[in-house]
Amino acid sequence: MYRPTTLRLASAHCPRAVDFYESNQAAFRDHFQVGIAAHDVLAAIGEHALTAMLQPTEQEIAEIAERQVRSLITRGRSFEGRAEPPMRAEDAFEGAELAKRYAATEPWPTADAWFEAGYAFGAEWQRLPYNAVERRFRLILDRLEFVEESGEDYAGRLAVITEYKTAWPTDESELETLQTKAQAVAVWLVHGSGLDGIRRRVVNLRTGKTFADDLWFEPGGNAQIAEWQSEITDYMQALDTMTEYGRRPARPGVGCLGCPYSLGCDAKSIETDHISMAKRLAKLEGERAQLIKALKAATAESAITFDGTTVGYQVTASRTPKPGALTLMWLAWTAANGDVSGLLAALKPTMAMLSSVAKKLYPDSKEDQEAKVAEWSAAKTSKEFGVFAQPTPTE
Ligand code: SF4
Repeated sequence: MYRPTTLRLASAHCPRAVDFYESNQAAFRDHFQVGIAAHDVLAAIGEHALTAMLQPTEQEIAEIAERQVRSLITRGRSFEGRAEPPMRAEDAFEGAELAKRYAATEPWPTADAWFEAGYAFGAEWQRLPYNAVERRFRLILDRLEFVEESGEDYAGRLAVITEYKTAWPTDESELETLQTKAQAVAVWLVHGSGLDGIRRRVVNLRTGKTFADDLWFEPGGNAQIAEWQSEITDYMQALDTMTEYGRRPARPGVGCLGCPYSLGCDAKSIETDHISMAKRLAKLEGERAQLIKALKAATAESAITFDGTTVGYQVTASRTPKPGALTLMWLAWTAANGDVSGLLAALKPTMAMLSSVAKKLYPDSKEDQEAKVAEWSAAKTSKEFGVFAQPTPTE
């Protein structure tokens, strides 16, 4: 049985990660907790709007968030019928803050919507009850609603699928993942006959940005979703075939960065040719990143010490300009008979300074700010050593 998480593990990390997932290997998942809390609060706010058939007020949003946080840190979440341990208060509060900030700006559906809706399908993509033993693929939609849309080019009934993300880098590339494609396939199969199209939305709860695309069934949308369905079918088949040789193959490389199993992964790359060494470095970088995440959480209150070594936070001293530093500088400059052009020539502009001045000049237009910063700056290349994902070729 597959789900978006397993397909994502295979594509973003490697097929061996799916083996680890299926055999319940310990994974470093602490950093998912904030996202879990945010999802929990947003689902509760959505349900509240549906029941009350009204937009939630700021006070209601705050009360719902408080109630959910209390439940998460005292009892823990129940997911797919399994009780999870109580959540760390810091994670629950951080997730609730993200949810509240987004909820206050978002129009909430008061009818025709579902939150945390589960869908399951059999081998022939026939719909099954969510807990059916013979399910082949299942997924949960954060939010699904149905709206009537009337535009110049297209009009009709749209299903709007919303996926919430709490990873900082979430951008429009999320619309290309198997997860969001699978969501469209599920809604198309189950609800498609009463629809004219599907809108997929991905919300980055950290930045507040929403990425969306509309897929009208005619022309083109039906064919596109059918293609995604066959892509997912083939991918699941390929992952099944890999198990015929025992464990699925490991693919050490850039996928190790952010892989939740990198700490316990036994994929070895010990040869000394350059490609093997590069693979080994990628895997070490993945382990290093997970160790840092785990140890940052573990040492938030106090550092770990052993054998004359300290791992954790260390206070470092540096200096930062005081508020009013520019005025003080200007006074000192003029006292020494300096003029404006002399001072400007002495200042070394930084990109942060350019952005800050552009923001003051064009407070209401991000495009104008970016255009000005582009006009005042020049492209520059430099070399940085590390492990990077290869850029996707563009057409
Ligand atoms: S650490 Fe690397 S090799 Fe191991 S499962 Fe994750 S992606 Fe695969």
